[in-house]
Amino acid sequence: MNEHKSEGIAGLLAQHGYELVERPEDADLVIFNTCMVREKAEEKVYSEAGIIRALKEKKPHLLLGIGGCMAQALGKRIFERSPTVDFLFGSSNLSDIPRLIQELEERRQNGRHLRDGPVMAISKIPDRIEDLPFVRQSPFQAKVTITEGCSNFCSFCIVPYTTGLLRSRLPGDILREVSQLAAQGYKEIQLLGQNVDSYGRDLDDPEINFANLLRALTQIDIPRIRFTSSHPKDITPAVIDVLAEENNICEHVHMAVQSGSDRVLTEMRRGYTKEQFLDLVHELKARVPGISITTDIIVGFPTETEEDFLETVDLVKKARFGGAYIFKYSPRPGTISFYKWPDAIPPEEKQRRLEYLLSLQKHITDEENRRLLGETVEVLVEGPTRPHSDRYLGKTRDNKTVIFPGNPEMVGTLVPVLVEEAGVAGLFGRVLP
Ligand code: SAM
Ligand code: SF4
Repeated sequence: MNEHKSEGIAGLLAQHGYELVERPEDADLVIFNTCMVREKAEEKVYSEAGIIRALKEKKPHLLLGIGGCMAQALGKRIFERSPTVDFLFGSSNLSDIPRLIQELEERRQNGRHLRDGPVMAISKIPDRIEDLPFVRQSPFQAKVTITEGCSNFCSFCIVPYTTGLLRSRLPGDILREVSQLAAQGYKEIQLLGQNVDSYGRDLDDPEINFANLLRALTQIDIPRIRFTSSHPKDITPAVIDVLAEENNICEHVHMAVQSGSDRVLTEMRRGYTKEQFLDLVHELKARVPGISITTDIIVGFPTETEEDFLETVDLVKKARFGGAYIFKYSPRPGTISFYKWPDAIPPEEKQRRLEYLLSLQKHITDEENRRLLGETVEVLVEGPTRPHSDRYLGKTRDNKTVIFPGNPEMVGTLVPVLVEEAGVAGLFGRVLP
């Protein structure tokens, strides 16, 4: 979602004469569009700001802006922690960026100090869906936001506080955007939302829901539609029907389980049990042949015992995910779990649980990928693996990476690839004539 919002920032700035450059060394303006879902992401921003500080010594006119979740949650405290930062913008204040830059330029022209009062735009609560002039990075794959914010308040998660409550775009606006992208020749649309299944719940019309939106989008002439992410408590039978029935919906669902322990799931406020989750996995696999289900898991949630962890291990064995992102619990100030429980699991125990699950999932990913050996899969070619390489990569409909000998003409097209090697690193094969 941040990558897509950054495409919006690039578009806004293009209207003011800026263009994208490859390296910070070549830039007059650097913007970090931040995430603070885990502490690590937050720390990375400060260390990257240190790199920009070194650049500023050689290039004093270089400006650094920090926006998105960190600016939203921390506000002026960022200025105190990092003297390199020139301006801040909140999660729904992207359209204020040109004005903030102008303010800094005027200060400079008038000989004022840039830090003569904070230059920032942060709405108290992020509450706008901004109409941004996206400059998309790819001419064949496009991200399209359907919702912003989240009203779920899972106990560990900072997202509702930094991005605001659920806000859905109107179906007419989404359909118009996707139709335009189809007319421009885009091959794949990725619909974005923290919980796509909650689409429309903040609007008054019961007909506006995710299943109806998906069904309407399938009528547009676009070969691939995918979406992320799904929430196990909210996927409806009608959404599964669309997945099962419509050819242009890709066979991939990213659906975070977080834990396999019912007790931990309750404390996380996730709204489903292990059994309900596994039933959903089995139903999706039965109704949608070839589907890959991927997930997110948190280890070391404050009250997680060894027994709870073993429930997660059992779930991972039973669900047979195509892949999983596994995270160590990171206490986030402002969230329910931060105030309710100390971060009690020692770091080395979190690490042990993480490594155990990673190696288990690696084994499963390896076996799941091997099932495709000898099969022909449809691949959307993204480009060479490295500049000037003749090895190309692309993604299957179920979101697996495939590497094969290719050429520049293939980029942005759908090609059939025979899978000749498969393993944990992905799929390898050759394009069929
Ligand atoms: N909305 C998505 C959902 O509920 O499925 C998840 C979005 S969240 C930005 C991405 C992932 O980050 C979560 O699924 C969770 O596994 C992880 N995450 C969120 N808060 C975390 C925390 N405090 N510590 C560790 N991981 C966290
Ligand atoms: Fe965070 Fe839960 Fe919302 Fe996902 S559904 S963004 S984990 S609060």
